[in-house]
Formats: sequence, structure tokens, C-alpha cells
Amino acid sequence: MRNSTLFFMVGIVLGAGLSGLAQAAAKGVPGDADKRFAQLEQMLPTPTEVRNASGAPGARYWQQRADYRIKVALDEQKHRISGSQTITYTNRSPDALTYLWLQLDQNVFKDSSISRRTEITTSTGARSMSTTAGDIVSYGTLRREQAFEDTKFGFEMGAVTGPGGKPLKVTVNDTMARVDLETPLKPGQSIVLSMSWAFNIINEAAIGGRSGYEYFPDNNTYLYFIAQWFPRLAAYTDYTGWQHKQFLGRGEFTLEFGDFDVEITVPADHVVSATGVLQNAAAVLTAEQRARLKRAETAKEPVFVVTPAEAAANEKGHATGTRTWQFKAQNVRDFGWASSRKFIWDAMGHHQDDARMPLVMAMSFYPNEAEPVWSHYSTQAVAHTLASYSRLSFPFPYPTAQSVNTWERGGMEYPMISFNGYRPSKDEKSGKVTYSSDVKYGLIGVVIHEVGHNYFPMIVNSDERQWTWMDEGLNTFLEYTAELAWEDKFPAFANKTNVLDFITDYMKSSNQVPIMTNSESVVQFGPNGYTKPTAALSVLRETVMGRELFDHAFREYANRWKFKRPTPADFFRTMEDASGVDLDWFWRGWFYGTDHVDVGVSSVREYQISSQDPEREFPLARSKFQADYPRALQEQNARAAEGAPLLERAPVLRDLYNENDEFTVTNKDRNEYKEFREKLKPWEREALDRALKASQYFYFVDFRNVGGLVTPLPLTLQFADGTVEELLIPAEIWRYDAEQVTKLFIRPKRIVSVQLDAKHQIADADVSNNQYPPRIAQSRLEVFKGKSKDKNLMLDLMTELKSAKDEPKDAGAQAPLQPVN
Ligand SMILES: [Zn+2]
Repeated sequence: MRNSTLFFMVGIVLGAGLSGLAQAAAKGVPGDADKRFAQLEQMLPTPTEVRNASGAPGARYWQQRADYRIKVALDEQKHRISGSQTITYTNRSPDALTYLWLQLDQNVFKDSSISRRTEITTSTGARSMSTTAGDIVSYGTLRREQAFEDTKFGFEMGAVTGPGGKPLKVTVNDTMARVDLETPLKPGQSIVLSMSWAFNIINEAAIGGRSGYEYFPDNNTYLYFIAQWFPRLAAYTDYTGWQHKQFLGRGEFTLEFGDFDVEITVPADHVVSATGVLQNAAAVLTAEQRARLKRAETAKEPVFVVTPAEAAANEKGHATGTRTWQFKAQNVRDFGWASSRKFIWDAMGHHQDDARMPLVMAMSFYPNEAEPVWSHYSTQAVAHTLASYSRLSFPFPYPTAQSVNTWERGGMEYPMISFNGYRPSKDEKSGKVTYSSDVKYGLIGVVIHEVGHNYFPMIVNSDERQWTWMDEGLNTFLEYTAELAWEDKFPAFANKTNVLDFITDYMKSSNQVPIMTNSESVVQFGPNGYTKPTAALSVLRETVMGRELFDHAFREYANRWKFKRPTPADFFRTMEDASGVDLDWFWRGWFYGTDHVDVGVSSVREYQISSQDPEREFPLARSKFQADYPRALQEQNARAAEGAPLLERAPVLRDLYNENDEFTVTNKDRNEYKEFREKLKPWEREALDRALKASQYFYFVDFRNVGGLVTPLPLTLQFADGTVEELLIPAEIWRYDAEQVTKLFIRPKRIVSVQLDAKHQIADADVSNNQYPPRIAQSRLEVFKGKSKDKNLMLDLMTELKSAKDEPKDAGAQAPLQPVN
């Protein structure tokens, strides 16, 4: 028995790899290890000559082109815009097209829209779904429904005409319209469509959307931010044909690249910010404003083009005449603009090492209500975004990047222009203006995010209506890298700097869908589309691939697909193709699954190699036996109660068994040892003796995968001499068994503790099982004081009535709702 135990130990040490393999084959594959590491080929679309197997645009890559000339006028009295436009559409596809589709996003606000008719209580009035318990109605919902009652929204379309001014048949289907062509548009041909249209602008604060107007009751002024505002030619692609999924509110859009020439007619005292470059500065700006704009090109800090004082004076007036601002933009997929007499305007040149676009004008437009925080941070954040994003992608290819303050919170992106929230607050009594840390970092973060969207998806033109994560996820990841480059301990995720500490609650939750879910079906929109992809890419960059491989591959993806149209497969394939890292397990786990990361160290066993020499080993075995089996309590109590045992009183009973135990070395043992040594092959004997001489420690460490998502194992070994060793075990350790694995560590010194993920780099949702031996959890306990609240009618009746000016502001956002009997 004892000999076989000793032999067994050597057997384990030398044959661990083989026996592990044999076990897996016999039992099947625990934890679906085969499925977790299965290649993605069966799930990804078959590579084509348009998009190839390496994830790059193929030899026959094509995309359509749409160029626009638009004239639009803003009617400030009626909150209405009307316009006319031509679209020059060029068919570069290999297909003849008998009809074209237009995208009419304003129709989402029609009472008859699919979006309006399918609103549910949890989504009403909210761009992101909020959860509510029970039947409640908010003041916001009341105001929203009243706004829909008061005004009809949606496009009012005039005729659409084709070549020779001939009217074409138009069939409107919710937020899409099909234009039937008289003759098919052949590959290589272009067609010019003309059309006119008008719509009432929504009060964004009441209705909620990506654009609209905002009313400032304190000084009776308005601010207009206009987007998704003209009939836009829908995308026609190799992967889905016409992208005419209806606009339901979430899935944003994808469009064709083209050049824009837009004339915007607004009240004469308005200042306009828009996609592209202002063409007629002499007609709309004073000589001084133009000089300031010129000076801003080389300024180290933002320069006011319109000062706060000028804007304050401006908003007191009410011009009766109009002025037309003309903008041109090249190679953009959309066009947005904003207009108000409230605008302060500042600008600063961003210089980049790029011969094609050495100077980009970073600019901000905001009302005095946004001060002083906007002039301090907005334009600086715009410039910082360009510098930071370009490091992981490409130089900014457009001449301007603008940030417009349009609402209290949130943001929305369009090419070269973005609408951003966050304003300071004004104390009503003292008039003091202050801003919280949330407002400051919220503003910096949202400007980085929305300006950053220029890269993804405005330039790397992924399909937002299909996949939210491809732009929001990649962009939030880059936003995060820019925030980390802004200052240390940036509170990027609700006061946490590490996204991996933030994401674990979401990843543990049961109410979730994979990242690879169509935009409109995503639940927990923010964590799913924004934060989890950011966490995934962080793990990929810092832990799985390392920065060198990741950054090269990510840059390759950005450059392959800038001004082109990537799909998820193109991203997955490029990241592997450019890095040589098999990431199928990673995409499966993080993008196609809903498991979370939770790994633990369940056991550590320490060994030293046995020499098998009885003279050396038996005394050690005896000590271990004695330590393992303490003297029987029954025997101890018997001795205490009854005194010495019989054997001591009658020595005649003694024999050799009383002098020896099973650990006594006999000649038989010595012979067996000799025989054992002789039977070893020379190399076996050499290996054993070398190991004995080194007197190394052998550790069998059991890892458990509790969460299911396979992950690399960052490990910290603490030694008895106080030194520390850090190592990273790749995720492939789980490829035979994704539930439990044992790994052997041979070290010259004794290990006293093993710790997983000490730096929080894998999004481990439960760190309590990461330490072996376990630690006592330490925290502070607050003593709880129970409160009872009795209604004292006698006291309540004696309470004095408060005067009107003491009235509390707002009891909360919830309107009183009485059940109807
Ligand atoms: Zn976004």
C-alpha cells in the first residue's frame, strides 16, 4: 500500500499530460469545450469577391454613391422647415435597379408609424428603454402625448421627378419610400432625382428624438438642431440588398457616401453650424468674426468667433429678414445642422501629421446657458478626440469637427457635427451657476463619444440599423482610450475607471441577449451595445492579444474599411488575419453568448518528489501519518481515567510488533528499492536524480470556470520568501475541459498563495474565489436603526399653511395616477 502510493506520485508527475487527455476522451468534453473553441466558419457568411476571407474588401468590392444639392429654409414662427433637393445617384453595383428606396426618418413621428403604434409603457418617450414597476405615468409622458396631439409630424412630400422632370411613382411604406424608375438603372449609370418636402420640427424635450428644437422659457428663445431631415437615399449593398428596415427609433442608419452642397436659409441673426465647410463667410460673418476664425487656426486655445457677450446681445433681438448660409462637404454619408441666435461660437485649429488634411478646425456652438463649462472643455475635447482616435485608426479626413450644445444630457452624431448635452445648473434663489463632477466629465465624455463617431460609423460605414455594437461598441472603446489619455482616474463608467469592474453586474444578469443581436431587439441597450463591447475589446487588447498585435489589427480594420461598408464578419476576420491570433473562441464567448466570466482557484496541492529510498522516505511517511491522524480521543480519555494500559503493566506481552511499525525499514524494502533503481532506464534514473537534487516543489492547481465564458488566467504566485511571480495562461487552457482544469507548476521555492486576476483584467464577476488559500472578507458594518413613522393628526392639524414662494419645486417626475373604477 505505502509503496504503491509512492510510485503513484511519480507516475502522476511524469504522466500528467497523457492521463488528462485520455480522461477527456473517455468522458466526452466537459463544459462544451469543443463548442466553445469551434471555428466560426459555419456561422459567418461565406467569403465572396466583394468581401474576402481575410476580412478585407475583395477584388470586386463595390458601393453606391449619392450626391446631394439641397436648399432648405427654417420658419422660426411655425417651427417648420421646407426644402427642395436633387440626388444624383450612381449605380456602381453589378445589378440593374428597377426602383430606388428613400429613407424618410421624420415619418417615425407620424401617428400611423410602426414605431408609434408599437410603443410600450417601458419605452414611451425614452430613447433607451427604462424599466418600470407597476402602472405609472410620468409628467414627461403626459407632455409627450399632448405634443403629438397638438401637431402633425412626418414628411409632407411633393412630387419626385426623374430625368426630364417626369414625375415618378412613389410608394411610401412607413419610414421608407420606393421610387419606381421608368427604365432600369444599369450598372455604371447615374440618375438625378428632384423632390421637395416640408415637415414640422418636433419639440425634442417633449417628444424625444435625435433632433428638433429646444425652447428656453427664461428668455423666450429657441435653438434648432436638425438631423435625419431630408429624404435620404437608402443603402444598397452586397450583403443585404436594399437596407430598408424600418426606423423604429433605436437602429440608427447607414447611407451612401457622396458630396453635399447645402444652402440653409435662417433668420438673419442666427448663427449656423453644419456638416462641412462654410462657403460664403463674407456674406454671413462680420470682418471681425472672419479675422477671429483665421486667428483660431493657429491658436493654442479656443478663440471666440462669437463671444458670450455678443451671443447674449444677439438673443435679445428678433430679426425679420433672413440670411442664407452655404456649406459644402465631400465624401460624407449624411448632413446635419444647427441654428440659433443664442450661439456662442469658439474654434481652435487641430494640426495633424497628414499631407491631405494638415489642419482641422475644432469648433463648438453653445448658448450662454451652457457656460462656463462649454468654453472651457468642449473644443478642447473635440481636438483631443481627433488626436486620440487617429492613433488607433487614421488621420481625420474632414476639414471640421464640431460640437453643438443642444440638450441637457446625451448626444448624437453626424459627419463633422455632433449634438451634445450637459450644462451647468443655476440656483434659482442666488442665481449662482455651478456644475457637478457628473456634468464636467459627462460633457467631456459625450463630446469625445459623439465626435469620435466620425470614425465609426461616419467613415467606417457599418450598418447601425442592423448592428448597434459595430459603431457604439467600437466607438465607446475608443472613447474610453481617449478618456484614459485625458487624465488619470477618469470616471468613465459611473465613477469607475476600469470598465471591467463596471460590466460584471450586467454580464451576470439574466435579462440579456448576445451582442450579436439586431439593434431593435437588444435589451439593456447601453451595456449590450456600448459597454460590453468596450469591455471585450479591453480584454482583447490588454490581456488576450497584447497592445502590439491588437493595435496593428485594429488599425488594419479601420484603414481597410474607411469610406467603405464593413460587416461583423469583416471585423472578426480582420482582427485574426492581421494578428495571427485565433479568436473564434473569443467572438463566440463575448459576442455570440451571454455567459459571464467567473473563474476561481478551487484547490492547490503541494508535493516534492519521492526518492523511493526507504531510509529517507519512511521516516517522512511516519511523520505525515502522525500529523494526519492525531492520537484517538478515546485512547487519551481511557488513559486519563484508567491509568497505564495492560501492556505497560505486563511487559511479557511485548513482541517485535511493539518495537516496529509499518514504517520500519526492512531488508525487503531495501532490496525492492535497489531493484527499483536497477529497473529504471538510464534517462529515467537521471531525471529522478536531477529532480531530487533540485528539491523542487510541485504544485497541482485546480481552476474552475464557474461563469462559463472561457478566459485567459492572469495568475500571481506569492512565494514564502516574499517574492512574487506574475504569469498569464492563455484561454486555450480550457480547450479540452471548459469547466475544470488542473495545471502543474514546478518552482524552486515554496508557494504560499495563488491569486487569479489581481489586476482586474478579465471582467471576473466574483473575485471571492480567486484566492488560494481563501481570505476572510473584510468590510465595515453600519448599525441599523429601525424607524417607525406614525401619523399624528393632532400635530398635522396644527401645522401652518406655507406661502406660495415656499412651495417645493417638483414632487418628482411622476404624475398622480388614479385608478378608474
Ligand atoms: Zn454613440
